Amino acid sequence: MIVGIDLGGTTAKFGLYDERAMKIIEYSVLKTKNLHGEQVIKSLYDHYVCWLKTINACDEEIKAIGLACVGPVDEKTDVIKDARFGWVDFPISKVAKKYFKKTVYLVNDARAATIGEKWRGAGQKLNNFLMYTLGTGVGGGIVINKQVFVGSHNYANEMGHGGKMQDSLTCRCGLSGCIEPISSATGIEQTFQSYTEEHPSSSIAKLQLKTKNKLTVKDVLPLIKMNDFDAMLCLEKALLPLASHIAVMIHSLDPDAVIIGGGPSALGQPLLDTITKMVRKYTLPFTHELTKIVLAKLGNHAGMYGAIFVAARKYNDYITKIKTHPADEYSNINSNALENKILRCNKNYFSSYLSKK
Ligand SMILES: [Zn+2]
Repeated sequence: MIVGIDLGGTTAKFGLYDERAMKIIEYSVLKTKNLHGEQVIKSLYDHYVCWLKTINACDEEIKAIGLACVGPVDEKTDVIKDARFGWVDFPISKVAKKYFKKTVYLVNDARAATIGEKWRGAGQKLNNFLMYTLGTGVGGGIVINKQVFVGSHNYANEMGHGGKMQDSLTCRCGLSGCIEPISSATGIEQTFQSYTEEHPSSSIAKLQLKTKNKLTVKDVLPLIKMNDFDAMLCLEKALLPLASHIAVMIHSLDPDAVIIGGGPSALGQPLLDTITKMVRKYTLPFTHELTKIVLAKLGNHAGMYGAIFVAARKYNDYITKIKTHPADEYSNINSNALENKILRCNKNYFSSYLSKK
């Protein structure tokens, strides 16, 4: 069995994957919002121990752990380059090994979601696609010729940052113009929030009163479905930087599809319609007519599936290939091949690999 942990800014999701059932069979969530530094890893470990006990599983049964982590990850040195949990150049794998007493395989969370969608979700049959995950931030992933593209320095999926896609907010990364502060789930909610302050008699302001000032994207769904003027105005304003970015990427890469994941995907078709309408405005007809904009299929589980895939792959004999050809790290994501690999690997094999590492 393999454990996948998807560590985000507000929660960490734990999934227990059974190779024979070929699915996540147990699931648990830990709140991470007020955690800092090494305390984050300690809390993950404490939760892991407690959770395994609750579901009658033991640590010896867990062949590998994959950790999908928020922030830019240098997967070659396993160092996090983000200060979300007060982490700057944080040696996460080293710290995780201290607690878990086994190798914890690290991957950026948005890249993990992309791998998950390629393995088990909306990207299964696609050769080339882009993925955008809208959460606390905006992450992404690029799949070219069925391979996850990692770039020359392993940072190829930081779609949330860079450029001049908006001119009203400074991003937490320090740049101004990033899509993240407006088009992330948090950014969309803040756009609704600001609108209610300026328009206290609007339908959104009334809805906000009902939710006691804790308006989420999901709460606005009934208004969006009704095509409410104020709600649609806010949604379009929040999604415009994202649509501009997608338009540039479509022209650059000519993908089969753009997959949208994260909390706002709960808005469903109206979200797709809004993004598609704006993307069409900023792309040439021959490009947008060929590229579909679709919703992610795995929802909350995409990052866990990706973490599980990475852990399984890095744990077995693909490791040789990874070390010699880093660009092939996530190549040819194929569910049957992976299942067979995992099933064929016996305990002795894993032990011998770990002792080598
Ligand atoms: Zn930024």
